[in-house]
Amino acid sequence: MTRLHLFDLDGTLIHGSAAAVEISRQLGVEREIDALERAFAHGRLTTAQFAERACALWGELTERHVAAAFEGAPWLVGIREVWADITARGERCAVISLSPGFFVERLLEWGAHAAHGSRWPAVPFREPLDPEGILTPAAKVRIADELCAKFGLSRADCVAYGDSMSDAELFAVVPFSVAINADHHVSEIASCGYTGRDLREAYELAGNYR
Ligand SMILES: [Mg+2]
Repeated sequence: MTRLHLFDLDGTLIHGSAAAVEISRQLGVEREIDALERAFAHGRLTTAQFAERACALWGELTERHVAAAFEGAPWLVGIREVWADITARGERCAVISLSPGFFVERLLEWGAHAAHGSRWPAVPFREPLDPEGILTPAAKVRIADELCAKFGLSRADCVAYGDSMSDAELFAVVPFSVAINADHHVSEIASCGYTGRDLREAYELAGNYR
């Protein structure tokens, strides 16, 4: 059986942090992004409004900052090992995140077969952010369906890994889901839960680690 493993980024592959937080840290605007994160968590900002305000904070962003944010992020250990195992079994793995594509797509280098994030202007920003390009939680399901079609698979072949309410819609349409470092809202709807810092252990819960 071939499966498609779908990974969230913020709070899932990145432990206790998010791409936006790590980018903001490089620019010295952590406090400002923290206020936006809280407003978003309380439902006072849409994903597009959050992105527009973050974009305004990141006017000085360069590729060097993005690379440093990526390298310095608190990643779970074992990500590349898990993706290598998935590949060796002839299965597929993908990252679907609402965070900027220019950050998410770096995970292709670690062995993900696909990596989808929100569409942002290229870094450094010379064009305005298009709110239409910013993903919503519902888009995770749409992208999962597109990936299934691309790989000749169906929702019944998917395993989803996530940490927050933005993963709830995807968890609801796949047969197996793993809540990673999640709060009880997400843990209650997942097939199983994992708390820790090693993706290999969470992957074992999906019953397919050697
Ligand atoms: Mg998340």
